[in-house]
Amino acid sequence: MKITKVECFVLLVPDYRADACSSAQDDLVVKIHTDEGLVGIGETDTNPWVARAMIEAPGTHIMGLGLTEMLMGKDPTDIEGLWEKMYIGSAMTGRRGLGICAMGALDMALWDLRGKAEGKPCWQLLGGAINPGGITPYASLLPEGDDLDTYTRILVERAVKAKKLGFRAAKLEICIKGPYSHNSLQIPDDRECAKIVAACRKAVGPEMTLMVDVAYAWADWKEALRAIDMFADQDIYFIETPLPSDDIEGYAKLVKASPVRVAAGEWLNSRFEFRELMDRDALDVVQPDVGRVGGLTEARRVAMAARDKGLAVVPHCWKSAIGIAASAHLAAVSPTCTYIEFLPRELADSSLRKDLCSVELPVVNGQIPLPTAPGLGITLNEDALVKYRVQ
Ligand SMILES: [Mg+2]
Repeated sequence: MKITKVECFVLLVPDYRADACSSAQDDLVVKIHTDEGLVGIGETDTNPWVARAMIEAPGTHIMGLGLTEMLMGKDPTDIEGLWEKMYIGSAMTGRRGLGICAMGALDMALWDLRGKAEGKPCWQLLGGAINPGGITPYASLLPEGDDLDTYTRILVERAVKAKKLGFRAAKLEICIKGPYSHNSLQIPDDRECAKIVAACRKAVGPEMTLMVDVAYAWADWKEALRAIDMFADQDIYFIETPLPSDDIEGYAKLVKASPVRVAAGEWLNSRFEFRELMDRDALDVVQPDVGRVGGLTEARRVAMAARDKGLAVVPHCWKSAIGIAASAHLAAVSPTCTYIEFLPRELADSSLRKDLCSVELPVVNGQIPLPTAPGLGITLNEDALVKYRVQ
């Protein structure tokens, strides 16, 4: 079997808001075609136009080759070989950042393709289901609202709805401060954040697991610790991305001092970036995004390194049912994966999340049963691909 074509689809919801912190409003979907008529599907969470350029651009010398030209004519089942080839061949322009995100979409599509070729779900190809906890999605909740009262009210409503839908865990996106606040909200007093956490906990009761994501809100680890202490009595499973991404020293200090587990990694590209944090004990919960970290090949390496350090793995995913499926297969083969991020269709604002796949992995009694269909186990809605495609 040979790769004959790589197609990129830049997708955008027509009602997107440029001041929103939701990256589910756009998408880069790739299709890898073969001479045997099989097609693999992947996606990645980054600027889709730039990622498309990274995939489609030609190379002019051996240190900066184009990703598509490196794949053309190759055997798609040699996935780890192709990962290495793409990583080395694009190292001058790729290696970190968006280059790895683009590779991630392609690697995801290669696993989907190989699963279809062998008639097996990806988790079987990745080493089998060795996670005793199974695959447990947590509902990721980002409210609408341009003022604090509306934001709080909608978040509480969504937490209650998530519980009713059967989710055992939910994450509160409290993005009301800092450089990536939602809808331009800026609420400097961290007591407001603690009040939202308390309101949600009160509404869902003590049984449900709750996490908090503040999207890099706090400038330094002492400011973060002070704010975390204000809601530490609400039984929060982790606090996500409390500090700027490159403040590794701050993360290490916060991990030591915080009464709540510190989670990070959604933006990290490649296992090398995760190793920097893990080696310095700078996180408690490891959050690779399958597309951004370099695909299932690289995400599994990160998950195994986390296992060796005794750290929980909770993959990030803020895209469509394609990425969710990839996270689910990763969870099945990651022994310390406790939850996967999951945007419930019923509570998501993005029509890409709702419409892009006509078949997606089901949630049954708060868990995703081990997928049985070949590959990722999803079916693309080709009408949606046409409807949301932009140039
Ligand atoms: Mg996040």
